[in-house]
Amino acid sequence: MPDYKLECAVWELTLNCNLRCIHCGSSAGAKREAELNSEEAIKLCEQLKETGCLSVALMGGEPFLRKDFWDIALKIRELNMELSVITNGTLFDKDTFSRLKALSPRAVAVSIDGADSETHEFIRGVKGCYKKSWEFIEKALKEDLPLSVITTISKLNISNLPELSKQIAKRNIAWQIQTAGAEGARFPKEYLLDMEEFYSVGVFIENLRRKYSVEEMPVIGAHDLGYNSCYLKNVSLESKWNGCQAGISVIGIRSNGDILGCLSINDKRFVEGNIKERNLKEIWNNPGSFSYNRNFKMEDAGENCAGCGYLSSCRGGCSEMSWMKTGKLHNDLYCFYRIEEELMKEENIFAKFFYKLSKIKRSVKNKSDFSILKKIFLGERK
Ligand code: SF4
Ligand code: SF4
Repeated sequence: MPDYKLECAVWELTLNCNLRCIHCGSSAGAKREAELNSEEAIKLCEQLKETGCLSVALMGGEPFLRKDFWDIALKIRELNMELSVITNGTLFDKDTFSRLKALSPRAVAVSIDGADSETHEFIRGVKGCYKKSWEFIEKALKEDLPLSVITTISKLNISNLPELSKQIAKRNIAWQIQTAGAEGARFPKEYLLDMEEFYSVGVFIENLRRKYSVEEMPVIGAHDLGYNSCYLKNVSLESKWNGCQAGISVIGIRSNGDILGCLSINDKRFVEGNIKERNLKEIWNNPGSFSYNRNFKMEDAGENCAGCGYLSSCRGGCSEMSWMKTGKLHNDLYCFYRIEEELMKEENIFAKFFYKLSKIKRSVKNKSDFSILKKIFLGERK
């Protein structure tokens, strides 16, 4: 078995949450059954280090709801692993920011899902949370923390993107844009982006990357957005997509100690073990673990990816998106490369797509941005 290097663990510290986000993939609210206690959580930090993990992202639910949050975060830093914190930004006191600063985190990420309180709070399910989250952002910026905003896009807020970009640009805020999945019990499937809307989000990010310097607007699409586009070259963090990293270089840890390749793949079939029963290093090094990615064979691809020239490096896009949309792995229906092929075939979809682009144009201040969009989709089209 090749030697896999664990670079990053994304750890759901608790499923307990004070918000009720409509798109939440794990339907957070109440605690999970049998969440790790403090002793088990500290032991897990040590096991992460022993397994060679370089970086840990603490999230929830809402991670600040755990009373031992600071002990766990400190332990991670004492063990010389990088720390990121992903929060809804509503639970803080006067010491939160200096305490975070003392931990020298790699990133502190806050979720903002709307350009106004109405949209954000409809999505996040609790009145008053918009103002609170922006208060968190302002205080974190004042403390000079490495701040990111994460925005999850569905039909409910796609039209907010241009306005949100104005609120975020030139403020030393990194922006990660991702799309909503339908794993959570609260999310009606009709709010999922359709193919053209999904592609428009990629166009939007590409446009921002052309409009602003990386310093003015560091913006990326998450793993679910992208792959081998002929036109959109600036959407992701990497210039080349090397396939889903679940179980290759990343893991997800549930608050009860379950280990998965990625927390987004919210299905018990993908649980590789539980750290209450087996040491993390043993789970990571087990030859049978994360087999769907580690032992991928070309014939594993589903109908959407079979025969694709990028398959050996791409392995069929984001495992979560593929599973959610088609019930199969290695079969991502939403892939820029594939969508471009479809759009070029289907005249009426193509027309609808440009209608959506024209709506983006109207909401962007600088008129020259649309010519950039047109250049991407018309000027450079061979
Ligand atoms: S069709 Fe599948 S394998 Fe090909 S680029 Fe898209 S997601 Fe990757
Ligand atoms: S399942 Fe998707 S989000 Fe998770 S690691 Fe793979 S590509 Fe990334």
